[in-house]
Amino acid sequence: MREQVIVGAGLSGLVAAITLAREGYDVLVRERRESVGGPTDLIGLEGRVINIGDGSPINLERLQAYTGIDMSPAAVRLEDVMIHAYGRTFNHTFQEDLTVYLVERGSRPTSLDVYLFKLAEAESVRFQFNDTVKDFESLPADTIICTGLFSEAFKELDVPHLPVYGYLGMAEIEDRNPRVVIYFDEYTRDYAFYSQVNGACGAVLFSRGKPLDVAVKERFERQLAENDGIVFDKWSAVNIGALPVKEPSNPRLFAKNYILAGTISGTIDPLLLFGVHGALVTGKIAAVTVQDHQKGLEEFMRINRYYRQVFLISRAYRAAPLWFLKRFTWAGLELQAALSGIAKDKTFRLIPGYGRL
Ligand SMILES: Cc1cc2nc3c(=O)[nH]c(=O)nc-3n(C[C@H](O)[C@H](O)[C@H](O)COP(=O)(O)OP(=O)(O)OC[C@H]3O[C@@H](n4cnc5c(N)ncnc54)[C@H](O)[C@@H]3O)c2cc1C
Repeated sequence: MREQVIVGAGLSGLVAAITLAREGYDVLVRERRESVGGPTDLIGLEGRVINIGDGSPINLERLQAYTGIDMSPAAVRLEDVMIHAYGRTFNHTFQEDLTVYLVERGSRPTSLDVYLFKLAEAESVRFQFNDTVKDFESLPADTIICTGLFSEAFKELDVPHLPVYGYLGMAEIEDRNPRVVIYFDEYTRDYAFYSQVNGACGAVLFSRGKPLDVAVKERFERQLAENDGIVFDKWSAVNIGALPVKEPSNPRLFAKNYILAGTISGTIDPLLLFGVHGALVTGKIAAVTVQDHQKGLEEFMRINRYYRQVFLISRAYRAAPLWFLKRFTWAGLELQAALSGIAKDKTFRLIPGYGRL
């Protein structure tokens, strides 16, 4: 039986593991945490579990056809989103054909991570927990590296990246309905958001490249309370990790002798940082690559086709003066509402993997 090592039991690692096990490989997944989606050792979280909803445009049917995995049991449809942009509020309802989902992350049975883990176990994938890979040079050739936002692998494999900092609030609530609130404001060139799904909720305020002052977090905290009635008892300042959004050439399937998937492969949209879809798709691509490098590379190039364009838009957006950003964001949100029927093709296909499966 052919053996395959995968580093990281997150979204992309689990999809790669399931795919290869179904192809007859003896798959070993090495994971630093004590369980899938379990307590994280990200700086600032003191070993807490991040149970939070990640939102993303997803075409479940095409994703299933592409990966061979039905994700629908762990995906909750999001009908609308509340956006506060520089003092104005937009309530955006997604059209029937713009399918946006929330997937719960973390260690609860309702999370996508645990759902995929159970599928992997059913395919006899072997897991080695509490196993942090430090010596990347010692891994067998073609090991699949899916280490997400953790910065060590970026450094070891010379993948260009930016550090990400932020503040995180989390809680469990009785309301099981999905809900997302987004803030664009002058305090970060990224954004802040609140999401809830299956009774788990969290808010994240983040910034790529530089840490944010605590006064900024306090302002976001006030906004959430006053505008949306959302209050957290505790906030943590976190070093979220590394993001592959430093250079237009960031997406890469190979590094040294290894195959990359998920965040570290750069399959994330550099503007809004949607990464879930790309992680699920590149898990499959990594598995294909183990068997055929050329075929995998062609797939990888195809699904990352728009990275460079979106990177350049993102760079211009981030360098623009504040007065322009405000007007640009307002105009974009108004246009999005007016043209949402076309948005699926024109906007969402810029997200790696979406619309190109
Ligand atoms: C707070 C937050 C909110 C987010 N919100 C969204 C969102 O709303 N929408 C969206 O599309 N994306 C979102 N993302 C991004 C999304 O989570 C990632 O794009 C996605 O998880 C990528 O999957 P992955 O497989 O690359 O990594 P992950 O799912 O993070 O898995 C990586 C795994 O590798 C393990 N690991 C790391 N280093 C090692 C090592 N050296 N040895 C062994 N194991 C290791 C980790 O413990 C982890 O289990 C968010 C990210 C964060 C942090």
